[in-house]
Amino acid sequence: MTQVPHFISGRRVEGTSGRFQDVYNPVKGEVAAQVPLASVEEVENAIDSSQQAFAKWSTTNAQRRGRVLLKWVDLINENMDELATLLSNEHGKTFPDAKGDIQRGVEVVEFAAGAPHLLKGEYSTAAGTGIDVHSLRQPLGVVAGITPFNFPAMIPLWKAGIALAAGNTFVLKPSERDPSVPVRLAELALEAGMPEGTLNVIHGDKTAVDALIEDPRIKAIGFVGSSPIAQSIYMGAAKHNKRAQCFGGAKNHMVIMPDADLEQAADALMGAAYGSAGERCMAISVAVPVGEATADKLVELLRERIDKLTLGPSLDESSDFGPVVGKDAKERIENYIGIGVDEGAELLVDGRGATVDGHPNGFWVGATLFDRVTPDMRIYKEEIFGPVLCIARAADYEEALRLPSEHEYGNGVAIFTRDGDTARDFTTRVEVGMVGVNVPIPVPIAYYTFGGWKASGFGDLNQHGTDGLKFYTKTKTVTTRWPSGAKEGASFVMPEGS
Ligand code: NAD
Repeated sequence: MTQVPHFISGRRVEGTSGRFQDVYNPVKGEVAAQVPLASVEEVENAIDSSQQAFAKWSTTNAQRRGRVLLKWVDLINENMDELATLLSNEHGKTFPDAKGDIQRGVEVVEFAAGAPHLLKGEYSTAAGTGIDVHSLRQPLGVVAGITPFNFPAMIPLWKAGIALAAGNTFVLKPSERDPSVPVRLAELALEAGMPEGTLNVIHGDKTAVDALIEDPRIKAIGFVGSSPIAQSIYMGAAKHNKRAQCFGGAKNHMVIMPDADLEQAADALMGAAYGSAGERCMAISVAVPVGEATADKLVELLRERIDKLTLGPSLDESSDFGPVVGKDAKERIENYIGIGVDEGAELLVDGRGATVDGHPNGFWVGATLFDRVTPDMRIYKEEIFGPVLCIARAADYEEALRLPSEHEYGNGVAIFTRDGDTARDFTTRVEVGMVGVNVPIPVPIAYYTFGGWKASGFGDLNQHGTDGLKFYTKTKTVTTRWPSGAKEGASFVMPEGS
């Protein structure tokens, strides 16, 4: 059985803990490899290695670091097809979608290569008599990233790209469900000129994560995954005196106003709800048509489109979406569909029991559509993380605005309308971190920041963009007076600023 290795100090390292987890090919429904689950000692070795690399990498000038990052981008692009195939085979998303996963990560590394500009400090001359003040941003040291299965390239690149550009060294603990791409990315970083140990990859479960949280040499934790784990890691990091940004689950709504282009809204919903089998933190899982006539028309348009959808193998060009990641995910999603029926929602399209010719054991769940879902139902409140779209009809705009605003999660939201006033009011008042106007999945580009509100994000700084640089650096402020400055003798009062 193939073993996906750790990647430490510039080489592939076999696991020694004796604990392994199966990695599946979700199209075949078969075990394709095994991934080692690290012991505390193995995690400590990875941290040692990154600690040693820190001295060299943090003192390499920022522009040279940027050049290494740009070379890394080149190598990722040169190996794009291989990486995307590997990603599809372990995750189940289609090949073009896997390329998109990698590309959105690469864009953040490109942005991070501009770190010399972003790391510049502040300077004030003559802040007092003969006194100058300046501030600088310094790397934290060794930092850790703990990332989810659903974007095995993008999210590691978001975190490592910015952290490395700022001069930190990085220990990545990727999802154990699709661990191969992160290892290849680290290999390519080495090939690009990153010193050994600058980017280490250690696989594992709670044991590895706890070791990272508890080790005093780890100075920051960047996490993305489900909300309960995000919250517990955030609390654990605080307990161990380290900064953390922990992003969690989602229940993203899309409001469709009566004046919207309904054909366009229906097309947008199809991709946003069923693309990547709904396994995106920015997937739309709740559609909120305003008014009965809008809802009835939208349902008609969605049904027509769902009939034409192709569920199929990830590497098959005709597939609109592929299988879900695992048997447990398939069971969880199908169980939620049953719960929705029991709760009284109207099941218009049932994706349970979907099959694909030639792949009888694949983890297939077909597109599912519920109508007349209400806020008290579990299928409305909880994250299903599969190809299940719930329609929650709203009587008017105010009700449609309240639904995402009052939901426990607050990752992304969209409004489809032709009316600028309505769009402006919505973007101003809605209690959600990322908002799209006629854009169903408003994932901010690299030079803006990404982060949800409420149970979707714990911590005060978002990912990538300038927030990312702030998160991965600490500010030092230097107040200077040279001997030729004013000589006042000893002073026993607090000096004033002016
Ligand atoms: P997950 O929470 O199961 O796992 C995420 C990471 O945490 C993995 O590396 C995993 O090994 C680790 N982990 C799992 N259980 C742990 C435990 N008990 N203690 C410590 N670490 C543990 O999430 P997932 O299933 O891999 O990913 C899907 C989830 O991620 C969804 O909820 C999705 O909405 C969310 N997500 C959020 C964002 C965002 O930016 N908000 C982006 C992508 C995914």
